Amino acid sequence: MGKSSTRLLDRQIEAFERVYPTCEYAGWFVCPQCLNAISLEAIAEDPGCVSIEHVPPQSVRGRALVLTCRRCNNTAGHELETHLAKADAVARGEEPVGVGYLHLDGMRLPVRECLDQDSGIRLDVNLGVGRPNDRARIRKLIDDAMAAGGEPAITGSYRPGPRRWSLACANVARLRTAYLYAFAQYGYSYVIDRRLDIVRETIIEHAHKGIPASMIVDIDDVDTENKLIEVVEPKAYRCLAVRIGDAAIFLPAPRPLSREGIYSVTQRLAKRGRGFAWRQGRIIDLPTRQVFAHDTTERIRAA
Ligand SMILES: [Zn+2]
Repeated sequence: MGKSSTRLLDRQIEAFERVYPTCEYAGWFVCPQCLNAISLEAIAEDPGCVSIEHVPPQSVRGRALVLTCRRCNNTAGHELETHLAKADAVARGEEPVGVGYLHLDGMRLPVRECLDQDSGIRLDVNLGVGRPNDRARIRKLIDDAMAAGGEPAITGSYRPGPRRWSLACANVARLRTAYLYAFAQYGYSYVIDRRLDIVRETIIEHAHKGIPASMIVDIDDVDTENKLIEVVEPKAYRCLAVRIGDAAIFLPAPRPLSREGIYSVTQRLAKRGRGFAWRQGRIIDLPTRQVFAHDTTERIRAA
């Protein structure tokens, strides 16, 4: 086991003992994601059963911050992060959303679906591949349309190919990163809380189990620092906002004030067309534009 793993292991065992000194697993390693306990003897026998997590992922300037068990790191970690890396590359315009075929006047043309700031999705026809006759015909169709002036009046149908990534999985990866980030800051007393069960279930089962989509939002911001913000008012919106890369993820507040979790509150608000947004370093209520985050920014530190 490497130096930083040993340091994190000692720190997490100590952090658990501090909060639950009389628990039968005091002195054991408790995985912050699945909450399974592993004895020191088992770790000595198989040091690979715990592994370092970069939080956020290395692609967004993450650093070795916490240890999780091998299963959480391999299954949830690697599988989800593949989707996240792909989603980020698509958002930056470096990779297509997907590929497929455009069926046009009896022709079948390979196309790339790309994100476009104006129209949402743009289909790029690749004239460099496909059947030579089709290439010549599509060139002529475009040339004729251009010569006639105005918008080329060409209609066809698009059949997308199989998607190799999913935005839902990328968002679960973001949620997982935010959860581990919050653990690094608030420790075991935060994550061992019934209100966090829904987050753990979502991460382990790779599906949004009742977490509204509005709890993961894109950020329009010049500031790029990863951080945690405790949203304290209004009371109904009390939560923890975790800013990572270009997204903000909302988790239950670190200290329980209402018995109702943030996710049920926002689900109810979403039905009335309300929700969160993160604009220029502030968290706002979308319909009223009211700024409600009390910015108690704290940098991330280990548990
Ligand atoms: Zn685990």
